[in-house]
Amino acid sequence: MSEPFQLGDKLGPVKVIHVQVPEADVKGILVVDNVAAGPAIGGLRIAPDVTLEECFRLARAMTLKNASAGLNHGGGKSVMIGDPHASRDRKEKMVRAFAKALRGETDYIFGPDMGTDELCMGWVKDEINRAAGLPKALGGIPLDELGATGFGLSVAAEVAVEYCDFKLEGARVSIQGFGSVGIHAARFLSEKGAKIVAVSDSHGTLYNPEGIDISALTAHKSQGGAVADFSGGEKMDGPAVNFIETDIWIPAARPDVLSRDTIGDFKAKLILQGANIPITRDAEKELESRGVVNVPDFIANAGGVICAAMEYQGQTAQGAFKAIEEKIRENTKEVLERSRKDGISAREAAEQLATDRVEAAMETRRFGIF
Ligand code: NAD
Repeated sequence: MSEPFQLGDKLGPVKVIHVQVPEADVKGILVVDNVAAGPAIGGLRIAPDVTLEECFRLARAMTLKNASAGLNHGGGKSVMIGDPHASRDRKEKMVRAFAKALRGETDYIFGPDMGTDELCMGWVKDEINRAAGLPKALGGIPLDELGATGFGLSVAAEVAVEYCDFKLEGARVSIQGFGSVGIHAARFLSEKGAKIVAVSDSHGTLYNPEGIDISALTAHKSQGGAVADFSGGEKMDGPAVNFIETDIWIPAARPDVLSRDTIGDFKAKLILQGANIPITRDAEKELESRGVVNVPDFIANAGGVICAAMEYQGQTAQGAFKAIEEKIRENTKEVLERSRKDGISAREAAEQLATDRVEAAMETRRFGIF
């Protein structure tokens, strides 16, 4: 039997708010986890099956991600029960009603997540003037178009190879998922001299040991083609991308892609976690014990939230990328050093680093988490 879900510990949550707006057929939850470092920032998710537990876990993940990125923001998350593919009119009504209901919760700044996008954040801003990840027309920095998270992964790669027995120049890379994160990770890593030899999407894997032409593949994908149907490589099944012999593996698609039962003869030497929780904890431990260097998700994929926070502070895209570079470089090094020095897993080191920073912020506050 799994552990019973416990809501709350020394870090938070500060507030849990259930929202119902019958006139707009809206039901949702806001969890503000911790605001010691500043107002919480975190996405609004729309899905049919979201729960309080999921919302709390996502809010806590944001507390850790924002703290480890050294942002002056705590963590929070909001969810609405609904169809992420609802019509524009329906979605606008839901998002506006939900935001309006939370207009007094000034400790929470909305951001985009699954089922919401920049346009939704524009509606939130219009209602309550408290959203990040805005459309360009409202001064937003288009983080998916610019590849903020993919850029951050390429910075993590530069640091992490120092802990491996290969160089980034010429390193062979496989990437599961060729969307906002995967495409830009491939682009920035290619620019830094790495060779992308395998890429997958939900239809299958493309493999070319000589290196895939990433700009041609991106053009093919933008016209609706599946990566495996691109002419510049061999077509393989979807999971193949995870087991090809490469130096770097980047999961950039789904959670729980690898578990202890499925790691089999995983061969890469360095994992850069683009997706959130792409590997179970026990699989991470097993792979690290085999000598694989691992950069956990909330360290490696923080580029997106750093960009959103910089946008909220009125920075330009250039300023945001500078902040991503500095923060991810520093954090990747600190996590890998701590892990090596203290003989703990990279995830434990990352969690310690983030928790230390949250607790240090809490010490400065009269009522701790507030
Ligand atoms: P996306 O929807 O743009 O792209 C996802 C890609 O994964 C698509 O190419 C899709 O075909 C592919 N995919 C889906 N299922 C797959 C499967 N079973 N096997 C192989 N490929 C599969 O999403 P994204 O924005 O690139 O996000 C990817 C992951 O990274 C998600 O877990 C997301 O939560 C996480 N993440 C994204 C950001 C960001 O800035 N976009 C930031 C942090 C974390």
